[in-house]
Amino acid sequence: MTESLAGQTVEGARRSLTARFKSGQIDSAELDARILIGAVLGLDLTGVIAAANRLITPGESERLEDFAHRRLKGEPIARLLGHKEFWGLPLLLSPATLVPRPDTETVVELALEMLRAVPPPDHRLRIADIGTGSGAILLALLSELPDAFGIATDVSVAALRTASANAVNLGLARRAAFVACDYAAALSNPFDLIVSNPPYIRSTEIAELASEVRDYDPHRALDGGTDGLDAYRVLVPQAARLLAHRGVLVVEVGQRQSGDIEELMTATGLMLERPAKTDLAGIRRAVAGRRLPP
Ligand code: SAM
Ligand code: GLN
Repeated sequence: MTESLAGQTVEGARRSLTARFKSGQIDSAELDARILIGAVLGLDLTGVIAAANRLITPGESERLEDFAHRRLKGEPIARLLGHKEFWGLPLLLSPATLVPRPDTETVVELALEMLRAVPPPDHRLRIADIGTGSGAILLALLSELPDAFGIATDVSVAALRTASANAVNLGLARRAAFVACDYAAALSNPFDLIVSNPPYIRSTEIAELASEVRDYDPHRALDGGTDGLDAYRVLVPQAARLLAHRGVLVVEVGQRQSGDIEELMTATGLMLERPAKTDLAGIRRAVAGRRLPP
């Protein structure tokens, strides 16, 4: 039984939660305690410091206890809050969506670089995001490209509902459409840019993933089959057929997968213009291929 936080000061509750998280082997104990208190009190991190002497109410205590209990069982902060920032955009999450990762911003960066490398098309830029989850990659691109229009697919209707809500919240809904289908199967028309962060974890390695991923991210967002490459074998040829001349495919890849994906791209006739782009940890994370004019 833990002591109730009700009647304690915000500072006291912060210390108490931090201590509990530390003894629960949570590396980010200090920060997590501040974030959860801030979420319950409706304050940002500086607001929590400024409110140090105010007392926690019984209702706040109950919500904090629930958060603390779930955090100590391994639930990620983003799942507890129900939202996560990606490319500076606040995105809602649901149990059907992967928590978008900072690594995935490498895909957005490489896509923008590849677009800038050729003259803009004489029509409105058309983008497809295959396996959109929360909508992270497409919405980041639409926020950077004010004239672009995008279509996002996912096999999960629940994920598409969340992605669509995110488009509305960000004021991007008029330039985005959401389609339930297997990878790019329902798409037609040429696209200037196709992006994807498909499932790429080897099936046998899922059991070894950190609990925050394995137990909370949706299985079908992670499982890439025996060698992790099943999704690419379907979507790279599909995408190659859907690209406009000079159109670009940019995909996220797992560790040591970039060479295999580059081979899949060249086998479909796409040209590798630049090396895979590394993420902040130095891992080759995003691979791009361009369709050349005949
Ligand atoms: N794009 C999001 C991001 O980067 O945060 C989500 C990426 S998550 C790794 C992969 C996504 O692909 C999940 O949303 C999953 O539901 C979707 N997916 C899995 N299999 C699929 C399929 N056969 N067709 C379409 N989408 C699929
Ligand atoms: N980047 C995720 C992880 O390693 C996996 C996402 C994916 O399969 N595309 O947890």
